[in-house]
Amino acid sequence: MTKQLLGKEVSASIRAELKTEIDTFTGRKPGLAVILVGENPASKVYVGMKKKTCADLGIESFEHILSQDATEDELVALLNGLNADDAVDGILLQLPLPSHMDEDKMLNTISPEKDVDGFHPQNVGKLLQGQRTFKSCTPYGVMEILKFYDIDPAGKHVVILGRSNIVGKPLAAMMVQKESGANATVTICHSRTQNLESITKQADILVAAIGIPEYVTASMVKEGAVVVDVGINRVDAPETEKGSKLVGDVAYDEVSSVASAITPVPGGVGPMTIAMLMKNTVTAFKEHQAPLDSI
Ligand code: NDP
Repeated sequence: MTKQLLGKEVSASIRAELKTEIDTFTGRKPGLAVILVGENPASKVYVGMKKKTCADLGIESFEHILSQDATEDELVALLNGLNADDAVDGILLQLPLPSHMDEDKMLNTISPEKDVDGFHPQNVGKLLQGQRTFKSCTPYGVMEILKFYDIDPAGKHVVILGRSNIVGKPLAAMMVQKESGANATVTICHSRTQNLESITKQADILVAAIGIPEYVTASMVKEGAVVVDVGINRVDAPETEKGSKLVGDVAYDEVSSVASAITPVPGGVGPMTIAMLMKNTVTAFKEHQAPLDSI
């Protein structure tokens, strides 16, 4: 029987732990600044979810909305102000930014100490070196799901489909670390990979993060493999009330018949991203009170 790896349960447990911890903080509560530039509907939904989770946990959220035609200078000024604001422990710049803005330049303006998304090059470098730092939230969530279900990547062949800076590459960096909960042998695949199926079939743990609906089929998966589906894709579904539904990068029904464990979409990796953002925000808050090494 294939085991479902339910990120919604893991994230609920992480949020409950965080709430208990936050309730013990006297005085100022952790603060997260959330910045939305423009009118992207999906981004608005994500920002709303982050604000609500902050409210549920007792994290103060500061929302900043800039218009679609805001300039880079305006955003830099806002970010610099937040970098200097003592009530703000973490800064989240909702992506994507409007096309006239340089995303890397804007992200690099965020102070590494407040970079709770883990995107700043300084934090990415620390991650690669195995130093303590803010870990990018979605891959961090993948690691936490595996930990929750006692699936130890040590010595396993982990094949990651996708090499983006927010999922594939940081996940590879986390999996390969010489530390408990990692120690995997890692292969990263991408759109130029040849003989993809011959590689995915070697995976003990297969992670899909490519953004193509139901791309991973049963024939690409080894019997008994653990399959983690990071993909979130909205597809037409005339049979549903909404006319559309969310699916992952994995053909869930057929892959379930060969995998030993699998994350569903929705309810798998998705809920973990916000939970890990909250965890990083609490870590940033504590770092303001004490040096990171003493936490
Ligand atoms: P990107 O588009 O940035 O990267 C996609 C990656 O997949 C690229 O490296 C690309 O290769 C690779 N790829 C594309 N086609 C293939 C193929 N046929 N075979 C192998 N590799 C391929 O996507 P993201 O990393 O941002 O997101 C991936 C998915 O995860 C999306 O569905 C997204 O919605 C979802 N996501 C979910 C999150 C969550 O909270 N659960 C958070 C972030 C993303 P190349 O580099 O060569 O172009």
